[in-house]
Formats: sequence, structure tokens, C-alpha cells
Amino acid sequence: MRVGTRLLTAATGERFRFDAGCFCLELLITGGPGPYQRYEILHEPADLARWLEGSRLAEVAPLSGDDIRIQPAELRRIKRFRDTMWSVARTVAHGERPSSADLEVLNDSAEPPPRPRLDPATGVRQWASPVTGGQILGAAAREAIELLGGDRVERLRECAADDCQLLFLDTSRPGSRRWCSMQRCGNRHKVNAHRARQP
Ligand SMILES: [Zn+2]
Repeated sequence: MRVGTRLLTAATGERFRFDAGCFCLELLITGGPGPYQRYEILHEPADLARWLEGSRLAEVAPLSGDDIRIQPAELRRIKRFRDTMWSVARTVAHGERPSSADLEVLNDSAEPPPRPRLDPATGVRQWASPVTGGQILGAAAREAIELLGGDRVERLRECAADDCQLLFLDTSRPGSRRWCSMQRCGNRHKVNAHRARQP
């Protein structure tokens, strides 16, 4: 499975692959406010460090939990950013304007991101170690600001299934992605459309 593609479990127990298309939206699948609290997986800093190993940040350069240092206060800020991003991204995907208070949370989170470097011995790209919680927050917030303030915002979508709230950035060439996952909502739609055609 590609780095950044995640295996999710639906409330029904069904497993499916989901690619959020960018890091700041990938972070949303770690939990969220209100009804999403039951999906929470970031209970302590080590949970986030583990999760990051399979995230899109690890696509740029390998990220090992040993190189990540997250303080509890940083984790709280990352979760606040994440919960705010849920609201902002959903609002924008529905074609509406997010609240200024929410946008200020994103602005306040735009700290310096992790520093990439080249290993002097091998020339291979790395993250300067340790990668801090503040840098993780910065990476997500800077990406969110660039996304929301740029042309690609048109590609920020909510899954087209009525009962699915997953948000993603459509990175497909034609820009025609409608579903969180073809395996799940895309397939459910196909089956329902087929049933509707039966006499
Ligand atoms: Zn869906």
C-alpha cells in the first residue's frame, strides 16, 4: 500500500482504502470533534509519532518514531488544529465561508515545518532530527493555508455518499473523483444504482 493511503474501518466493520490527497486532510482521519470522537487514535504523543510513520510526510523522507519528539502540549495544539480543520474543510467543500475564528486557529498554527536535509554521506533526503510536534503542526497548517488560499481549493471535496463525511483533495488528472473510496462508497453507489434499474 502506498504511503499516505490508509486502511480505515467503517462503523459497519468494513475495511477500505482511503487516500486523503494531502497531509492536512489525512490528519482528519485520526479523530475529530463531536461524532468523530469515537475514531480518536491520538491519545498520547507516541500514538501520533507511530501514525506519522505511515503518513504523507514519510513520503518526502522516511520518518521513524525515534526521530519524532512531541510534547503533550504540542499534541493538544495539533488536535485543536485538526478539529478546526474538520469544520473549515467541510464548510469550504460545501461552497461556504469558514468563520474567521476558525481561520485564525489555522493561521496561529503555521509554525516552521520540519527541515529537510541531505545525508552528507549518502546524499539521501532526510528530515532533520528530531522532528518536533510544533513542526508537524506547522507542516499541516502551512499546507492547509496554501490549499485553502489557492486554486486547488476547487478540488477539496466531501465524499458524494449522503452518509459519508470523509474529506479529500482530488488529485486525479481529470478532477472527477467523487468518492472517499471506490471500494466502499463508490461501490455502494454502483450497487444501489443497479438495484434502482431492476424492474
Ligand atoms: Zn465515502
